[in-house]
Amino acid sequence: MYSSQFLDLAISTAAECLEDPRLTPFGAVVVRNGEVLSVGVSSVIRDNNPVAHAEVNAIQSACRVLDSYLLTDCDLYCSGFPCPLCLSAARWAEVKQVYYAASLEDSAEFGFLDQKFYYDLARQDWSAGSEFPVLAGSSTQRAQGREVISRWKNMRNSS
Ligand SMILES: [Zn+2]
Repeated sequence: MYSSQFLDLAISTAAECLEDPRLTPFGAVVVRNGEVLSVGVSSVIRDNNPVAHAEVNAIQSACRVLDSYLLTDCDLYCSGFPCPLCLSAARWAEVKQVYYAASLEDSAEFGFLDQKFYYDLARQDWSAGSEFPVLAGSSTQRAQGREVISRWKNMRNSS
């Protein structure tokens, strides 16, 4: 259930990032049953970690708190609309609801690429000539990669 105080906390966390040049201006909060489980800042530069976005950091911390890879009873509050990475992380964690303050258009206005990445994903152009090519291996390698996944599924079904 939405509570504006948690979105306020995400925003104030983002604002605190302005005091450290190694942080970028985003904050995120994971909440369960009205209780803050974790607060994350965007520490990509400080940590030399391209996936250390505020939302990912908050999700990882909350998972450690709960000792679980799922956050099914939790909400995620973000100072800005999450990028595809963070929204995917929220979905993998089965977060119940995501709330945001600044829009994708707002962050794009100041040079952040979140909105562009969504457009790129929607276009699904992974061909060799595209801006960000993602290329398949050989058909044999596809079969081998598929076989590993298939074996995993069969092991899960038989246990
Ligand atoms: Zn992100």
